Amino acid sequence: MTIPRRILFATLLVGVLARVVTIGAEPVTVIRAARLIDGTGRELAEPGIVVVEGQRITSVGRAAQLPPGARTIDLGDATLLPGLIDAHTHVTSEGPGTRGLDRMSATGADYSLVGAANARRMLMAGFTTLRDLGGFDYADLAVKRAIDRGLVVGPRLFVATTPISITGGHGDPANGLSPDLAIQYPTGVANGVEEVRAKVREILRNGADHIKFAATGGGLSRGTKPTAQHFTDEEMTVLVAEAHRLGVKVAAHAHGNEGIKAAVKAGVDSIEHGIYLDEEACRLMIQHGTYYVPTLWIADSYFDKYKEWGIPSYAHDKISQFIPTALKSAEMAIKMGVRVALGTDAGVGEHHLAGKEFAAYVKYGMTPMAAIVAGTSNAAKLLGQENRLGSLEAGKLADVIAVPGNPLTDITRMEHVAFVMKDGVVHVGAPQAPATSSRPTASRR
Ligand SMILES: [Zn+2]
Repeated sequence: MTIPRRILFATLLVGVLARVVTIGAEPVTVIRAARLIDGTGRELAEPGIVVVEGQRITSVGRAAQLPPGARTIDLGDATLLPGLIDAHTHVTSEGPGTRGLDRMSATGADYSLVGAANARRMLMAGFTTLRDLGGFDYADLAVKRAIDRGLVVGPRLFVATTPISITGGHGDPANGLSPDLAIQYPTGVANGVEEVRAKVREILRNGADHIKFAATGGGLSRGTKPTAQHFTDEEMTVLVAEAHRLGVKVAAHAHGNEGIKAAVKAGVDSIEHGIYLDEEACRLMIQHGTYYVPTLWIADSYFDKYKEWGIPSYAHDKISQFIPTALKSAEMAIKMGVRVALGTDAGVGEHHLAGKEFAAYVKYGMTPMAAIVAGTSNAAKLLGQENRLGSLEAGKLADVIAVPGNPLTDITRMEHVAFVMKDGVVHVGAPQAPATSSRPTASRR
């Protein structure tokens, strides 16, 4: 089919003009509240003012440039904060049909829809960015893409897709199954340096943003010993070097002390859980600049919640033994000053309760300000996104939330997020500007 030249030119011209008008008319919003914590660790400011143009923050604080005619959102007796970042989630793993034997009938599409629902709950709780640490069937990648494409509402996702594990390790889906049953779907099982290297390449080719591997056994995996180191020192060194060479970061699920130390020496960017940390491991982490993601709320509330969470008995036998150690380790690491990035392990616990992680950090020794830094700028650094995310500063993406009152005097205020803006779009707490199109629009990441 040929298009008449005049119509083609007219169409192009309209397209160009529409673009100019859109760029020239980036909406400006001034967000005000009684207080502001910028996420860098700087002290609280009064009053709180953030100016947003389009999807970016253009100025912050009392000296902010207030353009005339801007839309103003006044949140009153509240504290403005950067969008929260959870550095350890499993968005596709908490919901009906995802646990135990249901795995045998769930499809990747089922997990994706569960993930879309959980992602939305996280955004409503104030988390505008997640570092997801693994699920099945690349469903996390589907959720991330659907959010980026504007099909569903949720935080900005960075995903691990398939965690890497040894045969019989914490990420081997065949654990506990008859050897006669073949696993058909893609798994992260790899053994020996060549397979480990190839697995890192395969997972990155398939769309992962970072690598997650199991350095030790764990609580929820059938038949593994949490204290046992899984990959050899050599395998870990190759895995981390390959991921870093290809430009991505590495998270190590690590419970046992030997596995933690081997992973830190191999150069991982974060230790997840760190159940059996000792002083030497903490010193090693400080020396290497390794982040600790303690997933503390689920440990602290485990005995109240494990039935509700549907923890199987084989896992409960292991987890109930190591919980007291996990809590002591976290307290020691916080006291010694290991860098913490906030992570909840939502997927085991409930996504909408992720804000409880802040109070857990304070309970085990952090100041409220340090807990807020862990869930904002520290987590952004762990993601390598500190230039765009994690603080209220001019030039950053406009991820802004507000909690009622002052979280420095009552950290549980972080559990009652009253306003959420992501990429300059308000999702909670203020009327949205009239929609100009009913079509989904891709968010610009
Ligand atoms: Zn986890």
